[in-house]
Amino acid sequence: MKTKYVLTFPNEAVEEPITYRLVKDFDLRLNILRAQIDEKGGKMVLELDGPAEMIKKGIQLLKSKKVEVRSIEEGVRKDEDKCTQCGVCVSICPVAALVLDKKSLKIVFDEEKCVVCGLCIDACPATAMELLL
Ligand code: SF4
Ligand code: SF4
Repeated sequence: MKTKYVLTFPNEAVEEPITYRLVKDFDLRLNILRAQIDEKGGKMVLELDGPAEMIKKGIQLLKSKKVEVRSIEEGVRKDEDKCTQCGVCVSICPVAALVLDKKSLKIVFDEEKCVVCGLCIDACPATAMELLL
């Protein structure tokens, strides 16, 4: 199975080879989708691929190192009150997480497809797409 998480690293965890251990100890495949980390700590959007039990153990390792782990659904938010349904984000999103619903003629956001690339956040003229990293 594949699952995506937003990780927040405290400064004491930055120097540790945690992502290496996810691969070595639990045989997980990693895909770093986004990272903003320096010596003080930071954020990473990470996709983990492997058996559910191994992913669970990997998450336990991260938490034991004081890394905060949140599910990807919390990575990007669409503010429906701000959205003007202009459609700019539809052509920008690389994974079709923002699409036009032909029935309602509204732009629908599918959090599960989102890879938190941030392109819609920069492009949205109404600042309706918000990065929660
Ligand atoms: S670009 Fe912004 S305002 Fe336009 S449809 Fe997308 S989320 Fe809504
Ligand atoms: S952050 Fe990237 S992947 Fe997610 S909805 Fe916006 S453009 Fe699409």
